[in-house]
Amino acid sequence: MFDTLEYPVLNVKVHLFDEYKQWLINRLENKLSTHVITLNAEMAMLAENQPELANLINKVELVIPDGAGIILYLSLRGTKQQRCPGIDLAASLLAELGKLEKSCPICFYGGEPGIAQQAAQFWRKKVPGIDIMTNHGYLSPEEEVQWQKTLQEKQPRLVLVALGAPRQGFWIDNHRHLCPHAIWIGVGGSFDIWAGKKSLAPEWFRNNNLEWLYRLYQEPWRWRRMLALPQFLWRSLSTILYN
Ligand code: UDP
Repeated sequence: MFDTLEYPVLNVKVHLFDEYKQWLINRLENKLSTHVITLNAEMAMLAENQPELANLINKVELVIPDGAGIILYLSLRGTKQQRCPGIDLAASLLAELGKLEKSCPICFYGGEPGIAQQAAQFWRKKVPGIDIMTNHGYLSPEEEVQWQKTLQEKQPRLVLVALGAPRQGFWIDNHRHLCPHAIWIGVGGSFDIWAGKKSLAPEWFRNNNLEWLYRLYQEPWRWRRMLALPQFLWRSLSTILYN
């Protein structure tokens, strides 16, 4: 039914699908537990040095090509693929789930206090009737235990986790058993954007694979983390040149 392909990127993998959203809706309808990781150059470089991160990426059900670096890596190897930003995939799922006749409980977890709530409010205005529970990402150990009980009780079917990468991926891996029929997606700074705290890169930057440049302008303190991008490009080229 779905045209799918698993493609190696350094020591991890990415899934090249025609239609990520429909694939996920299908998994949701069939109650298949699914963890989605959004892969970018920074994560791929981190995974080169962290075997536990590489293992995690290689075992989850879906890895989407979120970053421009990954698309470039693929195109250097003659593989054409559209970028699939995590925030866009999450947004298209939310819009779709809001239209379902049967209610589908959703959870936004992470971000500074108030942010997940504001992001949920944004979605409630956009999709009336959407059922979203929220919590922030700075819980004390006791609060986190309580939160895990709430998740188990409410059984959300879509859980968006914004704790920053790669932490959110490990958190999902350790807690996905609490809601065994859910789709779990690590969404990084998406709540900050939906809450209006940060803005999405303008269309032109997004269309020209320059979102990272806009991000650097918005959050200059990221420069050190973003050095992973040129390192990744060098690794991308050197694996072609020396293989
Ligand atoms: N965050 C959180 N708890 C933490 C650390 C971070 O909830 O202990 C949130 C933070 O408030 C932000 C998100 O995680 O909303 C990370 O966003 P960022 O844009 O940095 O995502 P990344 O690029 O790291 O995936």
